[in-house]
Amino acid sequence: MTQRNIIVVGAGFAGVAATKQLAKRFKKNEDVTITLIDRHSYQTYMTELHEVAGGRVEPEAIQFDLQRLFSRKKNVNLVTDNVVDIDHDEKVVKTEHGSYSFDYLVLGMGGEPNDFGTPGVKENAFTLWSMEDAIEIRQHIEETVARAALERDAAKRKAMLTFTVCGSGFTGIEMIGELADWKERLAKDNKIDPKEISLIVVEAVPTILNMISRKNAEKAERYMEKRGIQLLKSSPIVKVESDFIELKSGEKIPTHTLIWTAGVKANSDTDEFDMEQARAGRLVANQYMEAKGFEHVYVIGDLVYYEEDGVPTPQIVQAAEQTGHTAAKNIIADIEGTEKHIHESNYQGFMVSIGSTYGVAELMGKYNLSGFFAILVKHLVNLLYFFEIRSGYYAVQYIFHEFFHIRDHRNIFRGHLSRYGNVLWSVPLRVFYGSMWLIEGLKKAFGLFGATSWFGDTVTLPFSWLQDVTSGATEAAETTTPAEPVFGLNYVYGEEPMMIFSDAPDWFESIMEVMVPNADIALLFQKFMTLVEIGIGLALIAGLFTWLVNAVTIALVVSFTLSGMFYWVNIWFIFVAVALMNGSGRAFGLDYYVIPWIQKMVGKWWYGKPKSMYSQK
Ligand SMILES: Cc1cc2nc3c(=O)[nH]c(=O)nc-3n(C[C@H](O)[C@H](O)[C@H](O)COP(=O)(O)OP(=O)(O)OC[C@H]3O[C@@H](n4cnc5c(N)ncnc54)[C@H](O)[C@@H]3O)c2cc1C
Repeated sequence: MTQRNIIVVGAGFAGVAATKQLAKRFKKNEDVTITLIDRHSYQTYMTELHEVAGGRVEPEAIQFDLQRLFSRKKNVNLVTDNVVDIDHDEKVVKTEHGSYSFDYLVLGMGGEPNDFGTPGVKENAFTLWSMEDAIEIRQHIEETVARAALERDAAKRKAMLTFTVCGSGFTGIEMIGELADWKERLAKDNKIDPKEISLIVVEAVPTILNMISRKNAEKAERYMEKRGIQLLKSSPIVKVESDFIELKSGEKIPTHTLIWTAGVKANSDTDEFDMEQARAGRLVANQYMEAKGFEHVYVIGDLVYYEEDGVPTPQIVQAAEQTGHTAAKNIIADIEGTEKHIHESNYQGFMVSIGSTYGVAELMGKYNLSGFFAILVKHLVNLLYFFEIRSGYYAVQYIFHEFFHIRDHRNIFRGHLSRYGNVLWSVPLRVFYGSMWLIEGLKKAFGLFGATSWFGDTVTLPFSWLQDVTSGATEAAETTTPAEPVFGLNYVYGEEPMMIFSDAPDWFESIMEVMVPNADIALLFQKFMTLVEIGIGLALIAGLFTWLVNAVTIALVVSFTLSGMFYWVNIWFIFVAVALMNGSGRAFGLDYYVIPWIQKMVGKWWYGKPKSMYSQK
């Protein structure tokens, strides 16, 4: 087979989906090389840009390094560069710093904001369509509120504290929702009254959120009103200045911030590609996602114009991924000589968040959700994305950024999952808990304080099949009449504590019978368990692998309980272990050194070293 070069331009939802599929299929085919070119070294999780712009998460929370996404795909070359032109005759993609020849080309360069030629938008408005945009908005808002707090001219101060968003699609509504959440924090940090901050959505047509049902849009509208967001419908903006916007009615709204989210057009970099464009500059493709008039050149995502039943593919994530898959399937079909695949869209629904705790969702055309459940589903869908792109790393990062490291209660669970407290206070508990395990282990090893040594020839495990061959402790237990046990979670003088299970359940006994079939193995098992307990004790005292060791203690408590060896009064072991999984080893313990070192070494081995720029191997 001759060598084939596939070039994918754009590592957005569409480009990543196509590249993943191609890389998987050609994993064992050395004749096929795939090159993914993007101007960034990371994928931007576009649907959450408003969270960065609105100060909810840090930029790294939605930047997925491409090396981390493709490190296990040895057949994918990553290139960080800006594509500027395509030579269709020579089949070469030209970038600012190089050129790359291709046999198959996939263009997934996305869209950009469309200002419809409105005067002043380019010069005075902000857009929200890239990481750079989001960071710029965030910095501008922080600076503007800080300056406004010191402004003595009342009219100017009001204009500075008025934040306007143009457009009531996904982007506009999600952006204003974040600002509503951020308002209190901005006011507090700058010692002003939050009531001074005004939030306005300006929409040209009489309705908002036009991609969802009217019922859900009305719910969203009611919620926004409740949050003090002003909605100006049927109010096209005709002019944007640095300190006001002008509506078609002639009304002027003094503001120093207009975020323009009113429209999307195709990425204008593609204007130079000499390819047929449709509405808003999108590149026309056929049912295989192949660009009109160009064999082996595919267009996907927000950039593609393809009509299904007279309707163009929407500029949404699901369409981006599905068009990406169609292009990948058709390249595979072409290389392998199999039948081509006709694009068929299948959209599962829409979700819009209005801040971190409220949203509306429509699923599979029949289920409507709002509030907590809508946001919960949004998080689940976001997590599903990491499963689709096979990135456990970013799934975990997402949970940390969205749930555990969140400030100002900006999460559906409010602040309940997130705490910035000092774990130092749990260090004494860790040392105490570790000492307890160490003492128990040493007692068993050396028969201290009158305990039976687990290193001797006495089997202390209570399982019935081991009893006939044992003597000592078991016989002693049989000859004394035990006192009636009393339930309690605390040992009370004079009371006989109650076991959680006085006998092991049958299913557990049958497992243990396989693991510990006779006295010889039971004695070995006892010695092993003694060493484990000593190890646990030492590790907890030193703060080494604290999370893991505490998890092991929970597993041990469960197995002691099922073995009929654990008392209710000791149930606190479990709760202490859970509490100590809070990073107490890192506060003052060996984990402070060991865990970052392991993370660094394992990360380097598994993912390689992330770089600010990638270039072809
Ligand atoms: C704030 C916001 C909220 C949104 N919310 C939702 C939502 O809730 N649900 C939904 O379905 N959709 C939503 N969208 C739309 C969704 O993000 C897009 O439909 C989707 O990102 C399109 O994917 P894509 O791969 O086509 O393009 P993109 O994700 O835009 O990726 C294009 C890639 O091409 C790269 N690129 C561009 N030009 C060049 C060049 N010249 N050289 C090299 N690389 C280049 C870019 O760096 C980028 O990585 C939202 C969008 C925004 C901005």
